[in-house]
Amino acid sequence: MIVIKIGGGEGIDPRRTAEEIAALWREGQRFVIVHGGSHVTNELSEQLGHPAQFITSPSGHTSRRTDPQTLDIFMMAYCGVVNNRFVEALQAAGVNAVGLSGVDGGLLRGKRKAAIRAVENGRTRVIRDDYTGTVEEVNASLLATLLDQGYLPVVTPPALSYEGEAINVDGDRAAACIAVALKAEQLIFLSNVPGLLRDVTDPESLISDIARHRLEEFDSFAEGRMKKKLLGAQEALDGGVGRVVIGDARGEEAIHGALNGKGTVIG
Ligand code: ADP
Repeated sequence: MIVIKIGGGEGIDPRRTAEEIAALWREGQRFVIVHGGSHVTNELSEQLGHPAQFITSPSGHTSRRTDPQTLDIFMMAYCGVVNNRFVEALQAAGVNAVGLSGVDGGLLRGKRKAAIRAVENGRTRVIRDDYTGTVEEVNASLLATLLDQGYLPVVTPPALSYEGEAINVDGDRAAACIAVALKAEQLIFLSNVPGLLRDVTDPESLISDIARHRLEEFDSFAEGRMKKKLLGAQEALDGGVGRVVIGDARGEEAIHGALNGKGTVIG
């Protein structure tokens, strides 16, 4: 079992991987796909006159401000556009893909944050109408049922809170949670960079191998969203996943490349 997370950053079109996924699927490889949708969400937010806002927590983490209107736009982008279009491309490539958000069948469940703290101009503000949280539980039997029946699950945030609300969750950590729940051998993160870079501005500065017990030492190279990927990698490895690869979604044969160790291999 392999879990493949395809990012939603600028420059990535998950549909470009559809033919490659179809070939792997025909070979009999079992896997689950997870994807993001941040860039489409940003664009749609702009078009709908409710531009994206990002907040910084006191610990320095950046996240999307998800008020109720943003949550609607988030669902339009992740489920309505990216997930449906991706499933469409997979169907066209001959794979019987099924799109699911974490809400469907209670696939991804977690805690909604009661209140979040945002630092603005040196002052901390408490926000209570934010719909974000973290995935803690995966309905693995739903995924197993689909796979057993020959369907390829294509999973997207949002997740479901324990109170039954849709919540914006980090896709990388959700993918890690799914990989642990399915006892996957590998977790592949495909993004818009070649892997973890020593210098984010230099694509040649790839860190190609990291021993699992040394992952923390590399955290200082990661900025912003890359920190979440390393956290997801750590959670997956701690949960028993054999190896994690952070690779590039943009080139040809992106998935084969990552499976063959192109990118940052952590294991
Ligand atoms: P995706 O949506 O594709 O999962 P993210 O946007 O979450 O991807 O994370 C990838 C981004 O992380 C890159 O576009 C890059 O700007 C940023 N990043 C920060 N630090 C690093 C680093 N050391 N190496 C590579 N990318 C980094």
